[in-house]
Amino acid sequence: MPLNASKLADAVMARCDELAACSEDEHRVTRRFLTPPMREVHDRLSGWMKAANLEPRVDNAGNLIGRRASTHLDRTLLLGSHLDSVPNAGRYDGVLGVLIGVAIAEAIIDESLPFHLDIIGFSEEEGERFSMPYLGSSAVAGRFDQNWLARTDRDGNTVSDAIRQFGLRPEDIGDAEFSTDHVIAYVEPHLEQGPMLEQAGLPLGVVTGIAGQSRLRLEFAGTAGHAGTTPMLGRSDALLMASEFIVEVSSLGRQTTGLRATVGRVAAAPNAPNVIPGRVELSLDVRHVDDLVRERAINDLLATGNRIAKAAEGIFSVLETNANAAVSMDADVSKLLIASIHECEQRPLELFSGAGHDAVVMAERFPTAMLFLRHPGGVSHHPDERAERDDVAVAIEVLCQFVRNLAKQHQPNQVSSS
Ligand SMILES: [Zn+2]
Repeated sequence: MPLNASKLADAVMARCDELAACSEDEHRVTRRFLTPPMREVHDRLSGWMKAANLEPRVDNAGNLIGRRASTHLDRTLLLGSHLDSVPNAGRYDGVLGVLIGVAIAEAIIDESLPFHLDIIGFSEEEGERFSMPYLGSSAVAGRFDQNWLARTDRDGNTVSDAIRQFGLRPEDIGDAEFSTDHVIAYVEPHLEQGPMLEQAGLPLGVVTGIAGQSRLRLEFAGTAGHAGTTPMLGRSDALLMASEFIVEVSSLGRQTTGLRATVGRVAAAPNAPNVIPGRVELSLDVRHVDDLVRERAINDLLATGNRIAKAAEGIFSVLETNANAAVSMDADVSKLLIASIHECEQRPLELFSGAGHDAVVMAERFPTAMLFLRHPGGVSHHPDERAERDDVAVAIEVLCQFVRNLAKQHQPNQVSSS
């Protein structure tokens, strides 16, 4: 392997361990938006950035950005991911992508680039503290809604308070925006959080698109009654209806290629051992890269819910619906990423992401691509989350190649192809 990718990968792994200690909880990794451990993360990362000849700054959305400025073009390549975590998280989700970015800057420290190189650690992707994901990347993409500043966490602090307590100015959050012209591309390295690369025996994947997602709150209403005196025949049991429905959801998910359909939460009322359930509320999460397939699945499942309720003399209702459309990654940037993987004598797997990422928001505004790393065991949002050092080394090698290829396209005497 050329360059010192292997040594840099060792440093990335050690730094992931070091940042895992920056946590709100003593024995587990929990790092929500702009809580005190985030400052520790910024301090350590800023030191590593400076050593990689990157100039760190924190914008007013709490994103940490280390820049290697170029004198040629006033345009930038953004590389990175997020620094926040879910409660009781693993040590790689998000952080790994930022640290790989810093490793790239270290690897090419002596090479001059025709554009700025920005390594970004987004302040918030998971949406844990304010039940609102992508706060950091939304500010960079100019999609931050000023009304979000008034959202409160469970302690009554607003987003605005959190930003101010971190020493930043919420009133100037608009300054965090990058203009469309300024950004050549955003590339996010991230753990796959799924089994596809491991099954294919490959270290790296290029994301074609991020699945659209619908989230619904549904309810089956039947008739509550005495568990001992009500005959079995003719009961209108809401939990039984919900159970039939859940089986149908899973069945449609298995029959439809690429569909993910999940009932993750069920609440029965009155939820007593000796009462026939009269009412059941349930969640439904449906995802697919093709919005039409997702919408058709929702329609089918709602029809199924109605049919089940009717047969049991119950009522089926939709209480709430949220939906995000699928997002495609940029074809040109992804193509260059794939070419860079081949040049490093690796075979890429093209795959879609079932999970949301900062790339969802960034792709609305900038040419965006994602590089997935093999995820041994596929367990994520969990302390058992793992990453392989050798895969990290390959990712560093590939992304260095990518940066050099992009630099060739943007040499001052070349016609820009982005
Ligand atoms: Zn993540």
